[in-house]
Amino acid sequence: MPSTADRLDFFTESVIREMTRVANEYGALNLSQGFPDFDPPVELVNAAKKALDDGYHQYAITWGAENFRKALAEKQKHWMGLDLDPDENIVVTCGSTEAMMVAMMTAVNPGDKVIVFSPFYENYGADTILSGADPIYVPLHPPDFNFDPDELKSAFEKGARALVLCNPSNPAGKVFSKEELEIIADMAKEYDAFVITDEVYEHIVYEPFKHTYMASLPDMFERTISCSSLSKTYAVTGWRLGYVIASADVVNGAKKVHDFLTVGAASPLQEAAVTALNFPLDYYEKLQAKYTAMRDCFTSYLNEAGLSYTMPQGAYYILVDISAFKNTDDKQFCRWLAKEIGVAAVPGSSFSKEPVNHLVRFHFAKQISTLKEAGERLLKLKKYL
Ligand code: GLN
Repeated sequence: MPSTADRLDFFTESVIREMTRVANEYGALNLSQGFPDFDPPVELVNAAKKALDDGYHQYAITWGAENFRKALAEKQKHWMGLDLDPDENIVVTCGSTEAMMVAMMTAVNPGDKVIVFSPFYENYGADTILSGADPIYVPLHPPDFNFDPDELKSAFEKGARALVLCNPSNPAGKVFSKEELEIIADMAKEYDAFVITDEVYEHIVYEPFKHTYMASLPDMFERTISCSSLSKTYAVTGWRLGYVIASADVVNGAKKVHDFLTVGAASPLQEAAVTALNFPLDYYEKLQAKYTAMRDCFTSYLNEAGLSYTMPQGAYYILVDISAFKNTDDKQFCRWLAKEIGVAAVPGSSFSKEPVNHLVRFHFAKQISTLKEAGERLLKLKKYL
């Protein structure tokens, strides 16, 4: 029998998705894999039904249905402050997962180095390896998850061709300040590197923090490949609608990679999503208020249970410190938590290159009633502290 490719030895299966299987095995409330347990806006669901009735069953243009790209360019013009051309600056992909892979394969040659902040969303290591490149991890130091500019500089000095920036960050909940982004931008310019962003949580940011788009900083549009999706903003993770935004030069390359990876994202869903992209601005204010209430509900239980954590500034994840529980590592703890307490979380070590095993990640993209039930279960932890 032929053996499978060597590259498979350099990354593991997704631990996040494994934890969903563990949650199902024990019937635990699933606060591991981050997706909502509430429905998308009803107007969006109705638009999807209509798109099927209206006959959108065949391929859209490979780099995205025209209506979708026009609506997205208008929306992002407002948020990013950039004048985007729907034909030249956008590629619609199957979720941000594909967008990140497309960005990486467009920007990076085999043998290149790519900077990834750690803790990181687990796809980035795999994306880098699948592109034939080598990740260089730069730590974000807890509890605030700030980076040390000297450590970042020495990573750039190793000859990095790109840096991956998840902002707001999964799993750290960090929102990079404008000043931090400027430090990264200055180094990207000095060392002539791309910045590949994952900004899927761009609209989930808690007061007083503000999201700044890397591509909007001076002279950064040409070297930033912005990736995002509709999954989180409109609660449609299963629709797999994402996109790359970049300069015309980069997008020409990205169109080719995307075409041969997947041809295109689901055509009726792209038509339907125009409805969401045209939502008025108060949709985003309500979204922020909703997630703030969910964050505050969940953290009130963590406080009552006596657990320590870093308060998220954005996104919908929270890293909780489990060092107070004796003789356990994060993997054992998560399995035990799902089985005995009935709540599933993700071991922090799966997001980290450093030997960290005292953190676990919960997500709180859940209805208040689900969060209350999970919170009540977590209160049982008090007796083990
Ligand atoms: N982004 C979500 C998370 O971090 C979902 C991951 C996935 O399964 N694609 O949990």
